[in-house]
Amino acid sequence: VFGRRARDAVNMLKNGADPSDLDIPGVTAAVIDASFEVGEGEIFVVMGLSGSGKSTLIRMLNGILPATSGQVYVNGEDITTMSPKQIRDMRQRTMSMVFQHFALFPHRTVLDNAAYGLRVKGVEKAERLNKAREALELVGLAGWEDHLPEQLSGGMRQRVGLARALAADTDILLMDEAFSALDPLIRREMQDQLLSLQSQLGKTIIFITHDLNEAMRLGDRIAVMRHGRIAQIGTAEEILTNP
Ligand code: ADP
Ligand code: ADP
Repeated sequence: VFGRRARDAVNMLKNGADPSDLDIPGVTAAVIDASFEVGEGEIFVVMGLSGSGKSTLIRMLNGILPATSGQVYVNGEDITTMSPKQIRDMRQRTMSMVFQHFALFPHRTVLDNAAYGLRVKGVEKAERLNKAREALELVGLAGWEDHLPEQLSGGMRQRVGLARALAADTDILLMDEAFSALDPLIRREMQDQLLSLQSQLGKTIIFITHDLNEAMRLGDRIAVMRHGRIAQIGTAEEILTNP
């Protein structure tokens, strides 16, 4: 729940008000009644129009945004009862993020950029560079280690972002519109690459997109969000046959 008088709204919900009856001026309930489980090794797509609550949902999963009510479990642990430090540790241990617009350091090489997440984690240099090299190889950028980001195309830069997330070697990848800024052909290549990486590495991937085709191609299961609620959840086939 967002807004100046969010607290009033939260109290109403706690007292049993129906979320759809919340109409306090200036208050938005961004995600309502979302209840789901993501299986280990699954690609779970969250699909919906802009404003439907996708980013809010993912920010509650990584603990950036505290849920105003309910629980969020990561690897069996309820993160809503953790301290900010415990949440940071949990995030570093278990998840990596890939965004639409990747902030690569312009004056650092591709290799340094891919190793950045490990640097934050305090991994020592030789190991950091080894893992970053392996990750760059996984995304098809072997040989590009010493280049600077400006020497790379948009698609290749996004692969550096993916390599950075893979190098951190976490079980969970959170991808927020990760391919949405790419042109259609490159986007399809990235989708194929993600599917092939997934079958090699078996990561749990939560993938946010507003694109139906992308959701259908990638998702083992898809949650369709509408106005902050999960309107539907199922395999691509179930969503198509049961709209
Ligand atoms: P999506 O990622 O699907 O575009 P969001 O999760 O960003 O949707 O937003 C869901 C709703 O919550 C929207 O109505 C949005 O305007 C509102 N919202 C998101 N973040 C904030 C915020 N920090 N303050 C106020 N309203 C917000
Ligand atoms: P964009 O995303 O800007 O449309 P691409 O990602 O397709 O562009 O890359 C542009 C050029 O870089 C192409 O000629 C492509 O062959 C080349 N390229 C892309 N990735 C690699 C790679 N991993 N190794 C070698 N060349 C590459």
